[in-house]
Amino acid sequence: MTTLDDLPLRDDLRGLTAYGAPQLDVAVRLNTNENSYPVPDEVTAAIGKAVQAELRDLNRYPDRDARALRADLADYLGHGLGTANLWAANGSNEVQQQLLQAFAGPGRTALGFGPSYSMHPLLAAGTGTRWIGALRDPDFGLTPDAATEQIRAHDPDVVFLCSPNNPTGTALEPAVIDAVLAAAPGMVVVDEAYAEFARPGTPSALSLLSGHPRLVVTRTMSKAFGFAGGRLGYLAADPAVVDAVQLVRLPYHLSALTQAAARAALAHRAALLSTVDAIKQQRDRIVATLRERGIAVADSDANFVLFQVGGDQRTAWQELLDRGVLVRDVGLPGWLRVTAGTESETTAFLNALTCPLKEST
Ligand code: PMP
Repeated sequence: MTTLDDLPLRDDLRGLTAYGAPQLDVAVRLNTNENSYPVPDEVTAAIGKAVQAELRDLNRYPDRDARALRADLADYLGHGLGTANLWAANGSNEVQQQLLQAFAGPGRTALGFGPSYSMHPLLAAGTGTRWIGALRDPDFGLTPDAATEQIRAHDPDVVFLCSPNNPTGTALEPAVIDAVLAAAPGMVVVDEAYAEFARPGTPSALSLLSGHPRLVVTRTMSKAFGFAGGRLGYLAADPAVVDAVQLVRLPYHLSALTQAAARAALAHRAALLSTVDAIKQQRDRIVATLRERGIAVADSDANFVLFQVGGDQRTAWQELLDRGVLVRDVGLPGWLRVTAGTESETTAFLNALTCPLKEST
């Protein structure tokens, strides 16, 4: 059998493991921070109609610049943004890959503060960018001083911030983003995949865009919109940043079907986003219940919660799976991450955790 070792793979990709959250057939799947609520009927009907209307023209390439969709996204974000400030691709992963292709790549560096989203270093690897693994504080926080010091030590071409941070859940103080913008010599990407779930009073980095042409905010319809299968991520930035990513994007990267489906979903955003409050309630319920049980939990502004298991997280993960609940082992010793789902999924998780790890009881 041929293995990777037999192929002339790039040296810098040897030994890497592909992104791979397990996709298992389990009753309660709370491992990839999806929105547990199915798309409501009125929205499936609207998306169906919009996609149907595109079918006869599938012999033609789609709008390469996705102008109508970008206008709709700008309208959704507000903050005085327009079409020229927006760019969209197949998930925010693709947006971030395009940013690295344009602003990083061979001979350049990207820095992120771990523990954070595991795809950032993988996207760096894929684009030949050297990754610098800076660190958050032991309590998973990040202070302006600690961020500034680590950026000054490395002068990276691209800095990734994640707010609310995956897997810890907590949003960054605006002062941290200010400090990073002041210290970073290159681009600053704030990954706001979970922004819609933030607790009140958590400002978005969108409010800092004006006057900061090196700042990029990435967002996604995969989480709050419940549109993960539709694959639609986007960025907001200075129009010059949008010009830059257009140098590296594949022509017609966003299919006519994706553009039409995403526009229909955005037009029905009130219905789609109506699940956010219910999810936040379950998130807060998980935090409160686990803390009542004496379990350490990180504050969460997202649709998931990082909690301590008091022993080997791999054993705890397996025990929860054996009870029909799939959560995420993000490789953080002693911690697991659970997505806040529906009320009954949350109940199933909390019940499964009542007799957890043998070591922790
Ligand atoms: N950023 C963060 C922090 C995420 O957790 C995820 C999804 N797990 C993404 C980006 C990517 O989302 P998508 O490509 O579906 O937009």
